[in-house]
Amino acid sequence: MLNFPVPYPDELIYSTVARAGVYAGLVSPKQLLDDVFDNRKVIATPDLPSHLKQISELYPHSLNLDVTDIIYKHTLFPLYAPFVPEDRRLQCLEWMAGQSKGAVHLALGAAASRVKQIRFLRYCPACLEKQLEQYGEHYWKRSWQVAGADVCPHHGPLHNSRIELHGRYRHQFFALRPDVCVGGATESYSAEDVRVAERIHELLNMPPVESPSLEQWGLFYKRLAGDTGCAKGKKVLYDKVSEKVTVCWTNQWLAKRSLSPSINSNSCWLKSIFRKHRKSFSYLEHVVVLEALLGSEWDFRSVLSNGVQFGVKKHCELSCGFFRG
Ligand SMILES: [Zn+2]
Repeated sequence: MLNFPVPYPDELIYSTVARAGVYAGLVSPKQLLDDVFDNRKVIATPDLPSHLKQISELYPHSLNLDVTDIIYKHTLFPLYAPFVPEDRRLQCLEWMAGQSKGAVHLALGAAASRVKQIRFLRYCPACLEKQLEQYGEHYWKRSWQVAGADVCPHHGPLHNSRIELHGRYRHQFFALRPDVCVGGATESYSAEDVRVAERIHELLNMPPVESPSLEQWGLFYKRLAGDTGCAKGKKVLYDKVSEKVTVCWTNQWLAKRSLSPSINSNSCWLKSIFRKHRKSFSYLEHVVVLEALLGSEWDFRSVLSNGVQFGVKKHCELSCGFFRG
């Protein structure tokens, strides 16, 4: 396809494909699939799409939009990447460049997350006005589509559009136009929502980095418990952790996202995150614990570059010392 549009900042690549269809005056969704992908079976997936190599090949090299750039800047992949092991991160990048058939959603835990997925594509009315002023048109931002983060950090509650995810029109890319903006605001809006939206913004804008292993994450949280007065010797004091979490986040907010701690139960997610990790935890679970234990003065970049790596170095030194002794 000639003159394929360049994505705007924070635009979902799904939205760029939809704009391409509008620019080319295509009425038939099938023709858009033919022109962009040469494949009518491609599913229009906003969050974790595949077949992205074909899109990257539509851009000249000078634009720096190779397939990894597209995945990191124009999909929701960065929300999951740091929390899955490195081999899985690389495998998902490969699936998203080529074919996925639902494997990416499964591998990243997006399909089975405790956080309820959003039902409609969402938008922020105030951002729409700004977009029109700046670009002369509207586009779908990826930060509006994050389950568990229900506000625009600059303006307030997000609104549901008419475009239903997983609806009947699986092969159709819908552009953000005034006629799809008719829904009401999502109901919740609190200080917690703003804090989460800011953390999500940070995660979405992280550059590609090698993921820590599950072991590294487990060790990091154990050490964090010790550093924040939530451990006695090697024993994590779950009641203290739970208290910090419920001081930082209201019960109502936690309950709505199925994140209320239940430390009397062995399967409590909050206990599991301080134990040896057997599975990845979601971005929201990490945000809830990190914010509760570290206050507002932390960022994912430092946690990943110093905290998590350091945890393992320290562990190696300890183990080596142990074996030498
Ligand atoms: Zn906004």
